[in-house]
Amino acid sequence: MDTPVHDIHPGLLSFDADLVRKYDGLGPRYTSYPTADRFTDAFGPAELLQALRERRAGGPSQPLSLYVHLPFCDTVCFYCACNKVVTRDRSRSARYLDYVGREIRTLASQVDASSPVRQLHWGGGTPTFLSPAELSLLARMLRDHFAFAGDAECSIEIDPRKVDRDTVALLAAIGFNRMSVGVQDFDPDVQKAVNRIQGEAETLAVLEAARAQGFRSLNVDLIYGLPRQTIAGFGATLDKVIAAAPERIALYSYAHVPHLFKPQRRIALAELPAPGTKLAILELAIDRLTAAGYAYIGMDHFARPDDELALAQRKGHLHRNFQGYSTHADCDLLAFGISAIGKIGPTYSQNLRKLDEYYARIDADRLPAFRGYRLSADDMLRRDVIQALMCSFAVDFAAIGEAHGIAFDRYFAKELDALRPLAEDGLVDVSSLGIAVTPRGRLLVRTVAMVFDRYLRETREQARYSRVI
Ligand code: SF4
Repeated sequence: MDTPVHDIHPGLLSFDADLVRKYDGLGPRYTSYPTADRFTDAFGPAELLQALRERRAGGPSQPLSLYVHLPFCDTVCFYCACNKVVTRDRSRSARYLDYVGREIRTLASQVDASSPVRQLHWGGGTPTFLSPAELSLLARMLRDHFAFAGDAECSIEIDPRKVDRDTVALLAAIGFNRMSVGVQDFDPDVQKAVNRIQGEAETLAVLEAARAQGFRSLNVDLIYGLPRQTIAGFGATLDKVIAAAPERIALYSYAHVPHLFKPQRRIALAELPAPGTKLAILELAIDRLTAAGYAYIGMDHFARPDDELALAQRKGHLHRNFQGYSTHADCDLLAFGISAIGKIGPTYSQNLRKLDEYYARIDADRLPAFRGYRLSADDMLRRDVIQALMCSFAVDFAAIGEAHGIAFDRYFAKELDALRPLAEDGLVDVSSLGIAVTPRGRLLVRTVAMVFDRYLRETREQARYSRVI
């Protein structure tokens, strides 16, 4: 079937339990290609400086996106898979900010000061672990060293248990206009089982305060598959969240991998919902979100049709990066703080993950990158194909062929062969023009993307990834 790739209605999604059951395996989330586990220690501070030199030498530079990782949390959520530091010692953030400030100064000195910053994101951890004075200080350090575009998207991850109206007002005053709020599930039984007791009223008050302060796009994070979760309980959570009308909703699947994430060892296996229940919760969530008018953006993300993400997807401008989906395809990413991953031209680099190592490296006047990757021409080609699948659910053979100087069907003959069973099962339509992921294949889009992942195909090291659903 020759489906024109511009005519695939990307926001649509349909749930097919049989397909999900058949293809529910292990797979990367493709926030980058190659994935971070392919980074090597052959790429360190010297290679990052070289990438920054090439950026400066390359004429007018790409705009910038900035990411700051703020790792502190004062309690631990048992499902957590983030790189965080659990502590009640509020003084630890002051020392951390001192080092992040030094990293900001060093990296800022390596880029053209006039490059506009189009995006800023603070993630964690819990960014609002910082005191009001520290939040202001960090914002000032960034604004002192970089030229923010007037319409820059500035977003922050919020734990509503740590934020009141005054903090929300402060966040608006220091330039934030987008907010991502962790909810997971309002069911008190589930909250007890994951050690995250968070009242509905305090959560909704944060969302209201953000609207009153003019935040343009609010995102709520939900997780299905948590211990003690029930269809009825999660249904009630969905109703309350939908009633609050956030522009975006992220619906993550809980992956229980306690050998990788220590806090998960405190979750009782017997309390996890059975696979059938977990699937039923997912189906319910998709039904409710789509009935409420949310468009499916891809990989866990839904957005109201008038939200920038949905608009960008319809125009083919959506991009996927380490923070999920974004409307800015063309930015270089400077990342600060422990474990943060940056992207400069054809390179990725990741900072050291432990505080002591990070501090020691900065004390030695060296950048804290410990591993990274320089993409080959083949990597960049595959990155474009995987991006197209993840963001538009479609690959246009002619467009990719032209951009990379290849004949798609010859270059990817093996991959197109490997797509055949997926096409027979109805996940994709493959024509002479391109690949279109069908509405019922979209939930499994990373299964399709994995076909184009050269390293995965070569090594079949799938055991380390979270489940597709
Ligand atoms: S889920 Fe978020 S708030 Fe909870 S421990 Fe992990 S990083 Fe901290």
